[in-house]
Amino acid sequence: MKKLFIGGEWLEGSVYYDLASPYSGERIAEIPLASKEEVLNALSFAEKGAKIIRKMSSLERSEILEKVSQLFQERLEECALTLAKENAKPIKLARAEIKRTIETYKFAAEEAKRIHGETIPMDAALNGRGRFGFTIREPLGVIAAITPFNFPFNLVAHKLGPAIAAGNSVVLKPANQTPLSALITAEIFEEAGLPAGVLNVVTGRGSVIGDILVKDPRVKMVTFTGSLEVGLGIKEKAGLKKVTLELGSNSAVIVDSTDDLDSVVARCVEGSFSFAGQVCISVQRIYVQQSLYKEFIQKFVENAEKLVLGDPCSESTDMSSLIHLSEAERIEKWLKEAEQAGVEIVSGGTRQGSLLVPTVIAGDSSKLALSCQEAFAPIVCITPYETWDQAIDLANDSMYGLQAGVYTTSIQKAFDALNRLEVGGVIINDIPSFRVDHMPYGGVKNSGTGREGVRYSVEEMTELKFASFKL
Ligand code: NAP
Repeated sequence: MKKLFIGGEWLEGSVYYDLASPYSGERIAEIPLASKEEVLNALSFAEKGAKIIRKMSSLERSEILEKVSQLFQERLEECALTLAKENAKPIKLARAEIKRTIETYKFAAEEAKRIHGETIPMDAALNGRGRFGFTIREPLGVIAAITPFNFPFNLVAHKLGPAIAAGNSVVLKPANQTPLSALITAEIFEEAGLPAGVLNVVTGRGSVIGDILVKDPRVKMVTFTGSLEVGLGIKEKAGLKKVTLELGSNSAVIVDSTDDLDSVVARCVEGSFSFAGQVCISVQRIYVQQSLYKEFIQKFVENAEKLVLGDPCSESTDMSSLIHLSEAERIEKWLKEAEQAGVEIVSGGTRQGSLLVPTVIAGDSSKLALSCQEAFAPIVCITPYETWDQAIDLANDSMYGLQAGVYTTSIQKAFDALNRLEVGGVIINDIPSFRVDHMPYGGVKNSGTGREGVRYSVEEMTELKFASFKL
């Protein structure tokens, strides 16, 4: 039986739900379903916590975050195993996520020491002569962090690290399928010496807890990572609070030209099927220059069919089950529609329970849900194109715009892609799934608003205040 972390105390819940492993179905924990009163209690403590952390020096905040990073290093294997159990992430990938989490907190520890404003040349204005102006960055106060199931350690780190670096307190609501990672994170912050009330973790139903957090006037910012549907609802309800939305996508990669097709194919296979495609920047659409198309598809299918499917705790597993059976059923429906529309499934297309076999669709699928909507499953659509302009138009033909990848040996085309692709990040000579944790990251169109990447989150999580001195 797990507990809520509120005001520095571990509190029993009044109602619990069973947390089951997505792969085995076994019950792995009982998790509190936080009530309205418990969420309001967490907010009261967060308000007190905000006053405490605001007074701490940047060095003190940095030292806590440094310690958090160290403690994750010590508990790496335990954290990875927790991930494999609660969200069916293959253990190899789970370890990689924890290594990134360690790095994200380290970046946050470093960033805590360099939050500063700038001086303004006041005498550049006719009326500014004889004045000295400068800015400072102040913490916002209480931040509500709402996080998804797919990277439950590292995406929580992307919210807690910068929020605490910048001197804010947090109420964290993790996804109901991945509360264990959030509770371990709270244990680690507690051990690292974070004062009571600065971090509070409430587990339970998103619609209940989320609504309270998003509407409460004590919350100054909502930082959300998750689906478009929920993100839109949050934006509508949040009023004048700051809101950062890191939403989904159906990311595209253009394969224009390369000296090493084998490596490009291997990377595209990794980008399409890593964590069963449940990655916001998973490769969902690949546009291949006509001259490379046939060879690309053949090599792609060969590589995809070598992936080892099965138990996430096994060292040899490359891909495991989807987060819920309903997700596999949704994709099965989309695949039926695609077949009826005459699209060719060149590999996969079947499932065993919630484990979907890596699926490759060839040809024009531009009007199908499989291509237009976010699949969030091990599915990829590969389409040939003739001209460069066609490739850019196809990649831009999406309601999303998170990141895009472009393989090209032409520097002109690389810069042209940078100018014309409607996305938050253009990744040249790699897949759109590339991310390191200090780079700016976020989308345009329906992929969201605001940027993460520790320094950029710190900017979002602070208020700029201006001072003018008449000399
Ligand atoms: P989700 O269903 O939108 O859930 C995300 C979080 O929102 C969960 O904690 C959920 O709680 C909570 N929630 C649900 N209803 C809510 C409401 N009415 N008000 C406030 N919060 C609510 O997303 P998911 O299935 O966990 O994650 C997959 C999605 O996240 C995909 O669309 C993916 O692309 C996106 N994502 C984006 C990024 C990025 O950086 N751009 C990164 C990772 C994932 P419950 O779990 O209790 O429902």
